[in-house]
Amino acid sequence: MNAPQIPDWSVQSYDFAAWTDATNLIGGTWQLPLESHGVLDVENPRHGKAIAQVHMSGAADVDAAVKAGKAAQPAWAALPLRERAQVFYKLRELMERDLDQLSWLVSHENGKTFAEAKAEVLKAIECVEYGCSLPNLAAGSELQVSRGVTCRLEYAPVGVVAGVTPFNFPLMVPLWMLPQAIVGGNAFILKPSEQTPLSMIALGELFREAGLPDGIFNVVQGGREAVEALCDHPGIGAFGFVGSTRVAKLVYGRSAMTGKRALCLGGAKNHLIVVPDADLEVAAGNIVASFTGCAGQRCMAAANLLAVGDVEHIIDEIKKRAAALTLGQDLGAINSAASVDRIQGYIDGAVAAGATVVVDGRGDSVGEGGHWLGPTVIDGVSADQVAAREEIFGPVLSIIRVKDLSEALAIENGNPYGNASAVYTTSGEVARKVMGNVEAGMCGVNVGVPVPREPFGFGGWNDSKFGQGNITGWDGFRFWTRVRKVTTKWALQQDQNWMN
Ligand code: NAD
Repeated sequence: MNAPQIPDWSVQSYDFAAWTDATNLIGGTWQLPLESHGVLDVENPRHGKAIAQVHMSGAADVDAAVKAGKAAQPAWAALPLRERAQVFYKLRELMERDLDQLSWLVSHENGKTFAEAKAEVLKAIECVEYGCSLPNLAAGSELQVSRGVTCRLEYAPVGVVAGVTPFNFPLMVPLWMLPQAIVGGNAFILKPSEQTPLSMIALGELFREAGLPDGIFNVVQGGREAVEALCDHPGIGAFGFVGSTRVAKLVYGRSAMTGKRALCLGGAKNHLIVVPDADLEVAAGNIVASFTGCAGQRCMAAANLLAVGDVEHIIDEIKKRAAALTLGQDLGAINSAASVDRIQGYIDGAVAAGATVVVDGRGDSVGEGGHWLGPTVIDGVSADQVAAREEIFGPVLSIIRVKDLSEALAIENGNPYGNASAVYTTSGEVARKVMGNVEAGMCGVNVGVPVPREPFGFGGWNDSKFGQGNITGWDGFRFWTRVRKVTTKWALQQDQNWMN
């Protein structure tokens, strides 16, 4: 693997700094696209200026990556799983070594704060650790199913597989997929978001240092053309996707057309329910952290607060804490100017529909340039308004007033998404009722961002996920592998068992 010109990345602050341009990694070689679909700027959202450019690829590059994967994969699959996992032990060490450097890179290409970026890298390391644990988990099983006959399960790789990831977690989301897929014996083609393609260049270099053979981790940069080529390529056996629901649904159908297995995670509209007996500190602190963390640009962010009965004291505390946050320090930038316009459009639309903005982040900014919007709380939103139904993907909390828990559950269950939901209460009965009836795959009791930590699998329900199972944990390993059932009969010699 030849090295790309990774700059001497000694940046330890938010100061503007350029990075290297994003190219493809095919069979261990960093290279420009064979089929160019132009060049885009990679912006640092905090400054609103390009730190690099990304070279957009097409079907010819996907085909080259498949060929490189096919050439490398048999030798990789022939290694014992335990040996394949060793690369991830080494990778874990290298990521710990480069923790700050990786965190600054994520912060610069995505716009999130350094603390948030560091939390992302640490969570990515946790995913790598799951890969390290696979030798202890993937033993398969065997049973004597009748006299002299045994049945055994083995986990075989799929071959060449692919993943497509969004802009909001440029390092962590790829590492939801890579450990299970690569330890499982596959060659991987990753297509990162064209908005945040740089972390995968750093990861490609770390894989090289960790000893991963060329061709097992390939990167194809690009957008729609590259993704469609991945869906259509007959040489790719499994396709993982994380992004918006609109695209998840499209690529789920498209990749299935060529007989691939597909698991496509989509967008979200997460409802948090707060009841009068909730602990003030826990509820207000958590709800604010949930809707403002990563500037609201995460699929687990609180979007709608279903305020049951008289919870005025909690809402007052939410408003106070949200208004006290410092933009640029406590929450980072929005990924693009277009996204700021989109989010503002939702807020303006809610006001036009009769809601009231009680904490207003419109127009807030940090320094010159950059894409900013401060924490915003909208009260008096009704469940049928656009702001309550569509994914805003910004630091905006819509408060919907309801009279009781049944009304809250009806609104939550009426939304088409099913990623996350949470309830704030000190009552076990309330918690049980909500957890037992809510239409969401990842639920929290007094937890605003109920991400299931490893080894529990990450994945929502309904329009938040297309396909079976979860993307992380054991489900992830099962998704990237095929189960071989081996039945063996040990025949007796002339009906005699000579061992008698
Ligand atoms: P996006 O859907 O715009 O892009 C995701 C990926 O799809 C990118 O790599 C992009 O290049 C590609 N893409 C975009 N348009 C395409 C098209 N028409 N055809 C084929 N490929 C296309 O999403 P985003 O803006 O990068 O990320 C934000 C979205 O991702 C939000 O909806 C968020 O909720 C969701 N998300 C979901 C999860 C989850 O686990 N469910 C996690 C993170 C983000």
